[in-house]
Amino acid sequence: MDKQIITRKIKNFLIAERGMDMVGVCPASALDAEPEGYRPTDILFCCKSVIVFGRRLLNGAVQAQFRRLEDGMAFAESIYSTYGLELVPNWTMALSTFYLADYLENTFGAATQPMGCGPEQGTLPKNTPLPMFAGPNKDGLIMNIGHAAIAAGLAQPGWNNFPITKQYGPRVQFGCLLTDLELEYDEPDDGPRLCDPEKCHVCSDLCPMHALPDKASGESSTWSIGGKEYQVGKHKVNACTVAALGMRNEFAGIRKRGDLVDSEDPTDEEIADAMKRYEISNCNLDHYPKCYCNRCQIYCPVGNWQATFGDTGLSRQKV
Ligand code: SF4
Ligand code: SF4
Repeated sequence: MDKQIITRKIKNFLIAERGMDMVGVCPASALDAEPEGYRPTDILFCCKSVIVFGRRLLNGAVQAQFRRLEDGMAFAESIYSTYGLELVPNWTMALSTFYLADYLENTFGAATQPMGCGPEQGTLPKNTPLPMFAGPNKDGLIMNIGHAAIAAGLAQPGWNNFPITKQYGPRVQFGCLLTDLELEYDEPDDGPRLCDPEKCHVCSDLCPMHALPDKASGESSTWSIGGKEYQVGKHKVNACTVAALGMRNEFAGIRKRGDLVDSEDPTDEEIADAMKRYEISNCNLDHYPKCYCNRCQIYCPVGNWQATFGDTGLSRQKV
C-alpha cells in the first residue's frame, strides 16, 4: 500500500478511534543526535519511522492544580494527579500506544515497538540515582518523546524544556511508537517561535527552586533535533525534584514527609539520600507522587492561556 495512504490511515486511527488531538511522523534518523542507547534504532533495529501523538491536558485538571497552588487546597492534587498528569492520561496514552501497535502489526504486518510514556517509568534516569523519573519533563524514559514530537512537527522547544504546541502550549501528553514502515513525514515547525524567553520569563520567575534560569543568565542547554539546534533553559533536574516530589513540607500537599533536602541545588548524593528517607505512598500506582509543582507547565502563556484560564477566572495568577 502507498505510504501516503498508510500514513493517512494511521493518523485517522489515532484521531478518530483513540481521541488524540494531534499526530505527527518523523523519520528515525531525525533523532540520530540522541544519546547512544536512546535512539529509535537502538531500541528497534529496523526502525524507519517514529509516530508521535498527543492529547491535551483537561482544562479541569489544570484548574485543580491552580486551586492547589493558588488556594492551598491540598486535596486538589489528587484530581490533578488522576486526570491531569498521571493515572488517566498515562493509561490513555499507554492503551492508545498498545492499540496502535496492534493495528499496525495486524493490518500492515509491521514491526512495532510501543514506547513507554508514563506508567512504566521504572527506567534508570540518566542524571540522578533516583529509582525512577522525577521532575515534570519525564527524564528517565527510554526515548525522549518530547524531542520526537518536535521532530514530527507537533511542537517547538520551550525554554521550560517542554515541547510547546501552538494550540495548548506545553499542556499536552505525548505517546510514541516506532515502526519499520516507511511513512510520509511531517516537517518540523519552523514558523515563528512560540516561546521567546527574551520577552517571557514566566517559567523562570515562577519556579520555586530556581531550577530554570532566565535567558539573561546565559545558562542554556542545546537540543539537536532533525539536524537543527535549539537553545532551551538549563534545567536543574535535582533542584526541580525537590519541588516535584514534595521533598520539603512547603511543597508537599497532603503527604508531608519533612524537609528531606536543605540545599537549593542538591547533588545527586543529596537526592539519593533524601529518597532513602522518602515515605513511599501506597495510594499511587507508582508510589512516588510527582505532581507537586508543574508551575512551568501550567502557567506557560503559550496556547491561549489567557483566554482559557486567565479571562475565565480559573487562575488568578498574572502571566
Ligand atoms: S516543575 Fe516546578 S520546580 Fe520543576 S522546573 Fe517546573 S517550576 Fe521549577
Ligand atoms: S513560560 Fe514563557 S519562557 Fe517559559 S516556556 Fe513558556 S513561553 Fe517560553
